[in-house]
Amino acid sequence: MIFDKFKRSNDSGFAPRPKVQGNWKCADCGTTITELPFEPSAGKPVHCKDCWKKNRPPRNDGFAPRPKVQGNWKCSDCGTEITELPFEPSADRPIYCRDCWKKNAPPKFSR
Ligand SMILES: [Zn+2]
Ligand SMILES: [Zn+2]
Repeated sequence: MIFDKFKRSNDSGFAPRPKVQGNWKCADCGTTITELPFEPSAGKPVHCKDCWKKNRPPRNDGFAPRPKVQGNWKCSDCGTEITELPFEPSADRPIYCRDCWKKNAPPKFSR
C-alpha cells in the first residue's frame, strides 16, 4: 500500500488568508475600500484600516489597582475607627480593623 503523502504538501503550515476583493465605502470617513482581510457581514458597517484602529477601544493594559472604599466604620472587636477598607463591607458581617482582622483570621493551614 502506497500513501500519497506528498500530494497535500501545499496544505501544510499556515497559508496567509486570502484577502477579499470588492468595492465598499468606509462607514466613517467614506474612503473607498477595495480589499478586506475578511468577508464583511451584510448590514454591518465597513471601516477602512485607519477608522478600524480609531474605533477600536483602547487596550486596557495591566490591572488597575482596586479602589479602596471610604467610609466610617467601627471595628467590631476593639472599636477603632475605620475610614478605609479594601472592599465594600457587608452589613451582616463584623468589620475589623487591620490588627483585629489579623487576630481573627483563621491561622494558615499548615501540616
Ligand atoms: Zn475610514
Ligand atoms: Zn480592631
